[in-house]
Parts: sequence; structure tokens; C-alpha cells
Amino acid sequence: MSSAIQPTARLIEVFSAIQGEGLQVGTRQLFIRFALCDLRCYFCDSAHTWSVPEVCHVEQTPGDRNFETYPNPVSERDMLKWIERLNQPGLHDSISLTGGEPLLHAPFLVQFLPQVRQLTQLPVYLETGGHRPQELAMVLPYLDSVGMDIKLPSVSGEERWLSHAEFLLLCRSSSLEVFVKLIIDCNTNSTELEQSAQLVADIDPQIPVFLQPVTPVVTSEYCAGSPLPEQVLVWQGLMKRTLKQVRVVPQTHKMIGQL
Ligand code: SF4
Repeated sequence: MSSAIQPTARLIEVFSAIQGEGLQVGTRQLFIRFALCDLRCYFCDSAHTWSVPEVCHVEQTPGDRNFETYPNPVSERDMLKWIERLNQPGLHDSISLTGGEPLLHAPFLVQFLPQVRQLTQLPVYLETGGHRPQELAMVLPYLDSVGMDIKLPSVSGEERWLSHAEFLLLCRSSSLEVFVKLIIDCNTNSTELEQSAQLVADIDPQIPVFLQPVTPVVTSEYCAGSPLPEQVLVWQGLMKRTLKQVRVVPQTHKMIGQL
């Protein structure tokens, strides 16, 4: 008799923390950070996720940073066990799937998400580069909210407008909550911001858009630093010509010293 092979996950860490970005800012989340990303954004503060480490780190009690290590890859059963241990009653508002690019683990998520939702009764939030609509379609029924990036060509070096539009349309066509995030620095191209605003407005001008000033984490030939206040004011005004909600919010978790 043959038994089906269960998909496994390549993990960086599992821990409890305060969300520092986007619509869920300030809420307490159970973070599952997946390894691997197919993009190479110059501002990435998670470059350690780009390859698979030999071990992943799992917090034992929420917020204590008392990590245990386990070898990669990890099974669904182990993940559920760790989540159950961390999920103290009433503490967490949601589960955050982050990375890396979590959608590179879509076959695993299809199996894992229904179980973790049943176990915790918590909503599931996906943080993503917003460029993999096919994988999103696989996991969409198990998500409650999505924070997707629009990667500007001047930032990523690649044109991803079509896949971003398809991705956002899929989100909007379902009942989940969605917002869009754009990283801006002092060299951000305002034409690309206008194009991003139009992309969102063509799907629904009510979708919230967050402009997030870059938090310089490494010196880079690309990153000249955070935008000036007057630039941000102009860009927000520019985008509000077509969109109803454009908010400027830096990464708040770094302000309180939470990495
Ligand atoms: S998509 Fe996210 S994890 Fe991947 S390189 Fe860009 S910022 Fe880093």
C-alpha cells in the first residue's frame, strides 16, 4: 500500500510579534517566516531568507525569543505542534505568513492552512511580493487578508505590472481584505507611482495603498536613503488623484526596537 507524500516547508522561524506594517499595524501576530524568495529587492531587510538554512528557529513562549532549532525541511505536523504551543488564548489577532515569498510554498500551504485555521481559529494574513497569481489562486480560499507589494521597475529592475494586476484582481474578486504596499526612497520615480495608482484604481480605487519610506538597512549603490518629507507630500497627493486611501507609514516595529 502506498501512502501520499506530504509536502514539507523550508522555514526561517516561527515567533510571536507585533506587526509593524500595513493595515494590521500594531496587532499581535504569530509569524511564520518561510525561506526562499525569487525577487532581489535592493531594500530587502530579510535577505537571510533567500536561501534555505540548515535549521529553523522556533520560539518556545510567545515574545520571549527563547528559540529552539530544528532541521529543515519541516513537516506539517511539527508546524502545527509549534503553533499550538505558541497560541496562548486571546493573545494573537492573526497568523502572518511572511518570508521570503510564502507563495513559493503554495503546495504546502494548501495542506497546512485549513488545519492551522481549524486549530487556532485565527484569521490568516499573507505578506507577499504580489507577483505570483497562479500560486495565490491555490491558497486563496484559506486566506483572510493579503498585503501585497507593487514592485516598481526602477526598484526591482523588472516589469511586473501585469502579474501585479492579475494578483490584485484575484484578491478583489474574493471576499478577503487586501491592501497594497509600495516602498519609496528619495529616488523613487513619480511616473511609476502614478502607474501604480492607476493599476489599483482600475481594479478598485477604494483599495488602501501604503507608501512605506525605505528603512535603510544596508548601504547600497541603489539606495540613496529615505525620501524627503516634501517628496512624500507630493507623491501622496499625486496618488490621491485616482485613489481614495493613500497612507504614508514607515516600519513601526523598528521604531520600538523590534526586529
Ligand atoms: S520580495 Fe520581500 S523577501 Fe523578496 S527580496 Fe523583495 S523584500 Fe526581500
